[in-house]
Amino acid sequence: MYRTVDPTSGEVIREFADLSDEEATHALERADAAYRSWSALPIGERAAIVGQIGALHRERTEELAELMTLEMGKPITQSRAEVQLAASIYEYYGQKGPALLADETLDIAGAGVAIVRTEPIGALLGVMPWNFPLYQVARFVAPNLLLGNTILLKHASNCPQLSLAVEQIASDAGASNGEYANVFVTHGQIEGIIASPLLQGVSLTGSESAGRRIGGLAGQNLKKCVLELGGSDPLIILPGADIPLAVTAAATGRFWNAGQACTSMKRTIVSEEVWDDFFPRFLEEASTWHTGDPKDPDTKMGPLSSPGSRRDVAELVDDAVAKGAKVHLGGTIPEGDGAYYPATVLSGVTPDMRLYHEEIFGPVAVVYKVASTDAAVDLANDSPFGLGSAVFAGSGIEADEVAGRLEVGMVGVNMLIRSAPDLPFGGVKNSGIGRELGRFGLDEFANKKLVRRA
Ligand code: NDP
Repeated sequence: MYRTVDPTSGEVIREFADLSDEEATHALERADAAYRSWSALPIGERAAIVGQIGALHRERTEELAELMTLEMGKPITQSRAEVQLAASIYEYYGQKGPALLADETLDIAGAGVAIVRTEPIGALLGVMPWNFPLYQVARFVAPNLLLGNTILLKHASNCPQLSLAVEQIASDAGASNGEYANVFVTHGQIEGIIASPLLQGVSLTGSESAGRRIGGLAGQNLKKCVLELGGSDPLIILPGADIPLAVTAAATGRFWNAGQACTSMKRTIVSEEVWDDFFPRFLEEASTWHTGDPKDPDTKMGPLSSPGSRRDVAELVDDAVAKGAKVHLGGTIPEGDGAYYPATVLSGVTPDMRLYHEEIFGPVAVVYKVASTDAAVDLANDSPFGLGSAVFAGSGIEADEVAGRLEVGMVGVNMLIRSAPDLPFGGVKNSGIGRELGRFGLDEFANKKLVRRA
């Protein structure tokens, strides 16, 4: 069941029925049929439509931002910023994509001609989460529509109106013949879609458990998959770091979107040499991240997306505290309506606590004090995840050297990683498989076809 539930009150605003099995099959058949004509269009025509999807995002910023804030509780200023980011991804592929798809001629030293063409593969399924509900859709949809693939989009069950709004935008932009379709399907129906010979690939952004399920189905059915899963990103602060810069990065990197981001800085690892300079300032900064009504433009942190999400966060904190972690800020569920959870800072987290190993999807900063750079790197790498990270240090050389030792897909040196249309995004270990955005995002669901001439 797909439902809009206001996370500030628990009120059910709208409900949408799941598709019947016949309707789900029909949507897939339509996407497959649309692939024949869509992929045959001149690239310039597809690029214009993809760019127009971006333009319509900008034009409808207020409507989209309000829906996002209503359905998953993101503060309205952050919702507006996400609409712009999503728009910029469609615009990037609309403008730069055709050049990125140009044929590549290989150097085969007088043995004739060898060209690699980047061609589409067919209908794809996207399974997307609620935490950046427009940006994550854009990362998958923009490069693949440009390439000539067609899309079935199964969004998270708590943002159905936003998902319908994106389908409307795609249609209004010119993808109105089954090239892009929102599908309100069940987890069971996803199994049938992935198994169908009409589907050529699947992309999931979401939890590790969903990743194992979708990745397993893709494997069984020999379908290409991209998995963008969770993270427990470390932010390392070493001697010589610009402490005010690091304080702002650690707080913003953790509390933005109420901590519900795969690349949130969930573990702050601080050299003991700079601890006294860093920690009191960080606590002070963290305490400015008050929760409030997400519709108010002054609110920095809204509710979590649902009471269930809040329960998961509280369970991880309670487990750590019961086993001896120290709470410096927050740490308890407030009285009153809504799925609110306060900005929380913990120290003393040890490997016997769930929080040491698991991703926490809420505004909880875990801060560690370490005796050396080696200890910082070891702790950072002692995680099943390997998505993003950041290193703050005085000398660029030391920070670069530490960056090279981190088992992650992305690292910021004296800055946070900020996703951008032209930069690759993705992780290693349990954080997933594959890359999105930039030229890399065009290669995941592509046939790199060799054309050879004597
Ligand atoms: P989920 O992984 O449960 O949801 C993401 C998407 O996957 C949704 O569309 C969901 O559909 C779908 N899905 C979930 N399980 C299955 C399944 N077995 N078969 C098919 N589709 C499935 O994430 P949640 O929203 O429940 O969040 C839980 C945790 O996931 C968070 O605490 C966080 O750790 C992680 N997460 C990570 C994100 C990231 O960006 N890396 C994003 C969101 C969550 P439906 O809504 O219908 O269940």
